[in-house]
Amino acid sequence: MKRIYLDHAATTPVAPEVLEAMLPYYTEFWGNPSSIHSFGRQASEGMDEAREQLAKLLHASPKEIYFTSGGTEADNLAIWGTALAKESKGKHIITSAIEHHAVSHTLEALAKRGWAVTTLPVDGTGLVDPEAVRAAIRPDTVLVTIMHANNEVGTVEPIAEIGAVCRAAKVWFHTDAVQTVGHIPTRVDDLNVDMLSLSGHKLYGPKGIGALFIRRGVRITPLLYGGGHERGMRSGTENVPGMVGLGRAAELAMAEMAGEATRQAALRDRLMDGLVERIPDSFTTGDREHRLPNNASIIVKYIEGEAQLLRLDAAGIAASSGSACTSGSLDPSHVLLAMGIPIEFAHGSLRFSLGRGTTDAEIDHVLDTLPGIVEILRAMSPFRPGAVFDMTKGHEH
Ligand SMILES: *Cc1c(COP(=O)(O)O)cnc(C)c1O
Repeated sequence: MKRIYLDHAATTPVAPEVLEAMLPYYTEFWGNPSSIHSFGRQASEGMDEAREQLAKLLHASPKEIYFTSGGTEADNLAIWGTALAKESKGKHIITSAIEHHAVSHTLEALAKRGWAVTTLPVDGTGLVDPEAVRAAIRPDTVLVTIMHANNEVGTVEPIAEIGAVCRAAKVWFHTDAVQTVGHIPTRVDDLNVDMLSLSGHKLYGPKGIGALFIRRGVRITPLLYGGGHERGMRSGTENVPGMVGLGRAAELAMAEMAGEATRQAALRDRLMDGLVERIPDSFTTGDREHRLPNNASIIVKYIEGEAQLLRLDAAGIAASSGSACTSGSLDPSHVLLAMGIPIEFAHGSLRFSLGRGTTDAEIDHVLDTLPGIVEILRAMSPFRPGAVFDMTKGHEH
């Protein structure tokens, strides 16, 4: 059975060009970049080139790029680093209700230590209102952190507008751009951001490498101390092959972004529209206009997302669900709930995230396969309309 991978928001395969660029840094140029000798220099040159390649994608200076172990560490560095640097000035941070756990759980940890956190609501499509950011800023606000695009429903936030609000108020602005870097334009000056997180494995680079852009003049406190690597911001011998891979991935993304965004957006729309047309009692989630080109997310009422995923997987189709049931809890997605989607429907969410390898034929196959799966599951579901626990009649879950 040929398998179809539609979970690129979870991770992407490493591009062959990326692997090719990385391999010599394991076999030949394996020196420690801090070393004075030629082995060290070769490694250090690879690292410098990678930093330049990544800076180019962001239209930033290489000096503003700090490599980390991934998106999670970049988010933590931005938030803890700001908190530590600014705690004497104020202890208030503003965020949105739909952030990735790398941001929201970090802020929960700060809240337990006495920080005030304002969590802004989103509208029905997942958008944050820049005016709400303006209204939430207080004299003791030291950071606003709002994601560029949501990983579950694909909504792209008005980051440039929010950034302008923050700049006028002289408050640092961080964005988690893990889902957008390499997929849609992420020039840091256009976005008006002071800090931006990204991750290699979401743009066809390797896992375990990411970066935080920190604008010149923004001084946060490091979290890791040691040999002073990454200009003192992140000590530890560098993951040179990872950096080289991320640099090459950034370069590839620049070449392919415009074409791929158009191509994938057309497939995305065909998938979303085709599914809700073929599946009764289903609807799309997220914003249709401000949307990641590769995210198709829907809700199928009266059945669980997990049950659909298992049957899709058995049919060779890899997708994902917004809810966190996979981690053993039955908590529905905080993102869907924040968008005002009733809890019983939130359980039926599905996310298909497309990639460079996604074809027309694969989309057709999903369109042909999922409606049958839904029909079978609904026939067994106690939650369907007219069944014992008729959820159309407003039962408590
Ligand atoms: C994947 C992801 C992260 C975490 O990145 P890692 O490199 O896996 O740590 C953070 N934020 C968003 C929006 C993501 O999609």
